[in-house]
Amino acid sequence: MPELPEVETVRRTLETQILHKKITDVAIYYDKILENVDEATFKNSLINQTFRQIDRYGKYLLFILDDYTIISHLRMEGKFFLKGLNDELSKHEHLVFTLDNQISFRYHDTRKFGKMVLLNTTDKQTIMQYPALAKLGKEANDPTFTKEELYEKIHKKTMPIKGVLLDQEVICGLGNIYVDEVCFMSHLNPKTPANHLTIEDADHILQSSRMVLAKAIKAGGTTIRSYTSSLGVTGLFQLELLVHTKAQEPCPICGTIIQKEVVCGRGTYYCKKCQPFEKVVIGITGSIATGKSTITEYLKTKGYMVLDADEIVCALKTKGSKVYQQLVKLLGLNILDNDGNIDNQVLANIVFTNDEMRKKINKIIHPAVYEECQKQINITKNKLIFISVPLLFEAGFDKLCDEVICVTTDEQTQLARLMKRNHLTLEDAKKRIASQMSQKEKCQKATFIIDNSQEICYTIEQVDKILERLGK
Ligand SMILES: [Zn+2]
Repeated sequence: MPELPEVETVRRTLETQILHKKITDVAIYYDKILENVDEATFKNSLINQTFRQIDRYGKYLLFILDDYTIISHLRMEGKFFLKGLNDELSKHEHLVFTLDNQISFRYHDTRKFGKMVLLNTTDKQTIMQYPALAKLGKEANDPTFTKEELYEKIHKKTMPIKGVLLDQEVICGLGNIYVDEVCFMSHLNPKTPANHLTIEDADHILQSSRMVLAKAIKAGGTTIRSYTSSLGVTGLFQLELLVHTKAQEPCPICGTIIQKEVVCGRGTYYCKKCQPFEKVVIGITGSIATGKSTITEYLKTKGYMVLDADEIVCALKTKGSKVYQQLVKLLGLNILDNDGNIDNQVLANIVFTNDEMRKKINKIIHPAVYEECQKQINITKNKLIFISVPLLFEAGFDKLCDEVICVTTDEQTQLARLMKRNHLTLEDAKKRIASQMSQKEKCQKATFIIDNSQEICYTIEQVDKILERLGK
């Protein structure tokens, strides 16, 4: 499939061949190529029109004439050829423009996936409003594309970075070949979930994209599989590919054998050593008073990194912080104790008795905790990170996790623990439990379940089994 550099090569080549040439006739042999216009209108509109400019956006070619614009997408196999007027018509040539220099400008497409759109305008802004163009992201080699913009677009996506970079609405112009090259140059494993990447990673992606595309355009694109650019131009970039199509060959940096694997449905090449699959994040959740801390304490004693959402909340609402200020603004000075700190007991009472207020408080606290977890996951050198979040599913923290452990206990134990720990009446304890997602629902969403209703040694045994399954 032609990618941005190939299409750019086609554009540059056509520019030298058909610019300022007038169309004297149009013949259409396969009208399904035309996306938004019938055969007669296409033909009648274009006769006597002259090619004034040939532009490109991503993989779209834009032929700008006197009064009209043709948008062409080559898809899998589309090509343009220039031939003599009397040259025999190939069965794959679906559209032929006769030009006033007695040249036949032909669209050739063996798989017939390519499309052409006719617009009754030559204004670039109006052209870019055509839906297929309007939804495209900034071009990967656009110098105004900032790392912050790219990070903003990818940091909430759980899909592997390979798939995210192929999404033309996120970043326009990278296809399968170039995404592999960009990931290699950025030292990113293509399977890394996009939401695990940092701003620095986004910066590496943009810098690598610019470098790869500039080199490929200079070399005239690649000629992998069946694609060769039109008019006898053969891409040479395949000679410079670092990992794509290099399965079983040594990595140009470290010599490790390049792997081929299917990621997001596409054949993907990478070096296991230069692009290690990074961190695994395991969420720990469970309803209130099911004994999550028993598990997190055990993991900490074994030396694992555990991020505790409750501890992060405490740190985030210290006097003067952004969260502190937002909470005081929402709840007033009554929320503060004599020292001016947020009174946790008062806050808890509001959270558990006032539905509307709880939602507003959560809207302040959850994104801040999420951001802090993300930051700590990104910074740490640890490969396995546990995050303990009571409202993991409710607040969308499962997006940060590769797997989730749900801690459960029987209702009697839960109620007894809660009443004792928080000095609550039976009625209040029941209310608090009812205000959360049910244990059953949480278990259904989790990968692992730990039954914490019996002796502690039985709980520990289950944690060890999970660690064993994680290979840690
Ligand atoms: Zn390597």
